[in-house]
Amino acid sequence: MLSCERCLKYAEEKHYCPNCKGRLSCCESPPMHVGDGLGWGSEVIFICLNDECPTFVNGWEYIEAQYGHPGSYRYMILPGQKKGEVMMVGSSQAFTGCIVDPEALMEQNKRYQDEKKALEQLDDSIKEKNIQPAIYLICDEIAALQGREKACDVLFEINDLACIDHIRNHTFKNIDIEQKANMTVNEILKANFKKECPYCTEIIKTQAKVCMHCGKDL
Ligand SMILES: [Zn+2]
Ligand SMILES: [Zn+2]
Repeated sequence: MLSCERCLKYAEEKHYCPNCKGRLSCCESPPMHVGDGLGWGSEVIFICLNDECPTFVNGWEYIEAQYGHPGSYRYMILPGQKKGEVMMVGSSQAFTGCIVDPEALMEQNKRYQDEKKALEQLDDSIKEKNIQPAIYLICDEIAALQGREKACDVLFEINDLACIDHIRNHTFKNIDIEQKANMTVNEILKANFKKECPYCTEIIKTQAKVCMHCGKDL
C-alpha cells in the first residue's frame, strides 16, 4: 500500500498520451517489469488505458504478426518524466485492477490527517479532560495500533464515565484494541465505584441491589 502523501503527489501529476491525447491513469507498479524481469524503479506508473487509443488498437495486429501471440501496446510514462515509452500488455484488462483513484486517496488522506491531529491532541486532552481525541482513535479501525493503545491509557487518565457509551457502541475489528478498551472501561467503572447493570447496561453504583433504570434485582 502506498503512503497517502506520496500517492497524493502522484495523483496531482498530470500526464497525457501523445497518441490519443487522453489523460494517463496512475497505476501501482506490478512487482516485476514484464519485459526484462527488473523492477520499475517506481511504485506507480502512468499508463494510457484508453481502449480506443491508436497505439492500443493497432498494437494487436503488430504483435500477432511479430510474436505470434495475442497482445498489444499501451503508452506509459514514469513519475517525474517527460518522455514515455510503449509497453506490451497481454490483454485490455492489464493494469486496470491497480488504478490509483485520486478521490479515494483524498478521502484516505483526510482520515490520515484526522488521525494525526487526534494523536497530537492526546497529551493535552488529559489536562483538558477532553475524551474526544482518544475516542476518535479508539474507534478508528484503520488508525495505527500504537496510537489506539495510548488512547486507551489516556481515557483511563481522564477517567470520565462519558467515554463508556462510545466504546460500548463501537463495533471493533481489532480484538486486541477491543480487549484493551473494555479493560479501560472496567477500570474507569471501578475507579468511580460504578458497574454496568447486566440487564439494561446502564451505569449504576457498585453496591446497588436493584437497578435504578430497569428495576431488576441484581
Ligand atoms: Zn493513448
Ligand atoms: Zn438495569
